[in-house]
Parts: sequence; structure tokens; C-alpha cells
Amino acid sequence: MFESLTGRLGDVFTKLRGRGALSEKDVDEAMREVRRALLEADVALPVVKDFIDKVKARAVGVEVLKSITPGQQVIKIVHDELVEMLGGAVDTSISLHAAAPVAIMMVGLQGSGKTTSTAKIAKRFESRDKRRVLMASLDTRRPAAQEQLKILGEQTGVATLPIIAGQQPVQIARRAIEAARLGGYDIVMLDTAGRIHIDEALMQEVAEVRDVAQPHETLLVADSLTGQDAVNVAQQFKDRIGVTGIVLTRTDGDGRGGAALSMRAVTGVPIKLLGTGEKLDALEDFKADRVAGRILGMGDVVSLVEKAAETIDAEKAQKIAAKMKKGQFDLDDLAEQLAQMKRMGGMKGVLGMLPGVAKAQAQMANAHMDDGVLKRQTAIISSMTKAERRNPALLNASRKRRVAAGSGTEVQEINRLLKLHRQMADMMKMMARQKGGGLLGKLFG
Ligand code: GDP
Repeated sequence: MFESLTGRLGDVFTKLRGRGALSEKDVDEAMREVRRALLEADVALPVVKDFIDKVKARAVGVEVLKSITPGQQVIKIVHDELVEMLGGAVDTSISLHAAAPVAIMMVGLQGSGKTTSTAKIAKRFESRDKRRVLMASLDTRRPAAQEQLKILGEQTGVATLPIIAGQQPVQIARRAIEAARLGGYDIVMLDTAGRIHIDEALMQEVAEVRDVAQPHETLLVADSLTGQDAVNVAQQFKDRIGVTGIVLTRTDGDGRGGAALSMRAVTGVPIKLLGTGEKLDALEDFKADRVAGRILGMGDVVSLVEKAAETIDAEKAQKIAAKMKKGQFDLDDLAEQLAQMKRMGGMKGVLGMLPGVAKAQAQMANAHMDDGVLKRQTAIISSMTKAERRNPALLNASRKRRVAAGSGTEVQEINRLLKLHRQMADMMKMMARQKGGGLLGKLFG
């Protein structure tokens, strides 16, 4: 469902990721493209606006040392805000904390996949959660509706309420609840009638059923292929009936994904389940972080940045940041940077988490930086005196020979290390000069 959005965002991020340095203008431009991609995916305008504002606010204040590269840091921010837009890490399971039989009312427009979803959910309660479920169709309008649920019940092995011709929805609801009580069922699922469009008669009917059944959960089934219409329908059902969760169907189709993305932000109702196909086991729990990862297609970058954030000692990071501002960056600081890379699993660990393009770039940039090098550089620095680490200029030829002997390396390698340090120190001086350097910075690529 998110294919084209994922493609568009992928292009934006590939540009960002390839950079060792980002200016605010780069970020602005990237956000303009993200905004366009979201609007084209049919995400509601106010939701897009809010999203972009939040990402920008966070991106501008990003701390230098927490970034792997600025581009990756921005991707992580976009990911986090996307998770937030999708409802965050709230519990989206269907609540069964009520006296049995727990009533679940299914509502939605005709053709949204309501009856199919009812059977899918019932089947899962039975097989996964070992609950006994009774299903009842309250759709007295569409002649075949009750029959359809009965057939689905036979296919899934879930009990259905016997059909009695001529009964009204409210009567059927009462009878279903009574039958569930008498039969010792844990859950009773009420599949209400749908219409092509929302109309007053439908709302009236569903409201009456609600008053009788007092459902513990009211799940709105919405067809993701209908885009913004689905969001409007959800809002109306929420206002009129009260909705505790959304089941978004046809997410296997080629919809643009906007409904999925706006639904929660616009209505405030959590998406709980995704219908992913016509088969009766094509049902998934909705998890905001998983869906966000799927949209960005970059779970790997996200986990890389998370890991970096975990392994960086915040206090040390602040100390180094303060030094950098003053244009000081000594060999002790370099040793700390190297140690940090080691904590992240060395070059291999870092590279292993990068997606294809970024990986190739990183490999090229760090061709000389394998894990052996990392270890020897650390050894070199620890063979120096405190004074030498503070002021590398002290390292004349004889001191270099001493350090080489102490660390089991060659003078050449010490020279390479000093050159790396000079480059980094220069870069940091430059960064320090650039004012307002909140930075989405310009860190090591
Ligand atoms: P209702 O009128 O809302 O009860 O809709 P139905 O449950 O009868 O579903 C209408 C059609 O949509 C049926 O052909 C279902 O097989 C199909 N359908 C339901 N959910 C999904 C889904 O998640 N993916 C796909 N591809 N088809 C679905």
C-alpha cells in the first residue's frame, strides 16, 4: 500500500544520507519533498503540516554527537514522528477486560470488509486466544448478509447465531447476547448493517443496537482504498456512535496509504488491526513502529541511530562538544570516538546496519578503517603521555619511535593517526566558527 510513498521518501533520504554535512537549507529542502510525498499519498493536509513542523523543530536542535551522520539522524526523527502520527506505542489490542460475554460491535459502510473482518477476528480469538466466540449478523437489509456470515462461520469453525427471519437488528442483538450468556461464550461479535453512504437511518439503527448491546469495543471497519473518504467516515462514526478502534482493510491493495496515515491523527481513534487480504487469516495487529519502518523502508538506519544513542556516554559527549566549540579536540577525544565505534560493534557492526547505498559510501570513505586499524589506533593513543595526548605537536621523531615501540606499531601509522586527528580537529574548528551551529551538522560522514 505504501509502495509509492516509500519510493518517494527513499529518494529524499538517499540524498540526505549521502551527505557528511547538512545545512538548514538542505533540511528545509528535504522537508519540502517529504511534504509533497505525503500529500501525494493522500495524507490529510493538517496532519502533514503538523508532522513537518514537528520534524523541523527537532531536526534543527539535533546534537552533533548523537548523530551517526546528520542525514541518518534526520531519518530517525522522521521515523519517530511518523510513529507518533500513527498513534505511538499505545496498546492497540482488543480489550477483553469485561464480564463475559464481552460484546464487540462491528460498524462501517457496506463493502468495507466488515463481515469478512468479523470472521477473521473471531477466528483469531478462537485459535490464538482460545476464546469461544459467537457471531451474529444484524444486517437485515441485505438479504444475503446473514447467510454470508453463517458460511464464514462454517469456514472458520466459529459459531453463528441461528437466523430467524423477520427479526429486527435490536431484537437480534438481544438474542445474540442472551445466547452467548447461556452458551458460555467469552465473546459475542455483532456485525451491524452497512450502507453505501452514511445516512441518518443507518446511524439511528447502529445507535439503537449500541444502546442495547453496550459493546465493550466498537470497531469501525474502513476500506483503505477509499483514502480520505475513509477518514471522514471514521470521524462521523466516532462522533455519532463512539468508536474504540479501527480495522483498516485492503491494505494489500494499491491504495496510496493516506487513510492509514491520517486516520489516527484526524480522529484520535487508534487503528487496531489491518486486513491484508481476502483470506480469513489475512489479519495483522497494527503496530505503529512496524508500519513506520515499512513506509520508510529503513528500519536498519533507525536501529543504527538508536544503538548509537544508547552507546554514547552523554556526559562525555557534552564535554567533547564543549571542547569542540572552543576549537579544541585532542587525542583523548579521538580515543573516545574510537572507543565509541568499538562499542557499536566496530566498523563491521556499524556497516552491517547500513542499507545498501549508505554502506557502499561508508565502505569507500573508511576503506582504511578496518577493525584492526581501530584497535591499533587505540593502542597508539594509550602509549602516549598525557602531555602528548593534549598537545600532539610534542610528538617529534624520537617520541614517535617510543610510541611505536610501546604500541607495537610503526611510525607511519602514528603519522596517519595524527593526520586523521588534524583533519577532525580542523573540521570541528570550522563547525565551531559556523554560528548557530545547532547542527544538523556537519559531522563526519
Ligand atoms: P461488508 O459489506 O463490509 O461486510 O464487506 P465484506 O466483508 O462482504 O467484504 C467485501 C469484499 O472485500 C469481499 O470480497 C472480501 O473478500 C473483500 N475484503 C475484505 N477485507 C479485505 C482485505 O483486507 N483485503 C482484500 N484484498 N479484500 C478484502
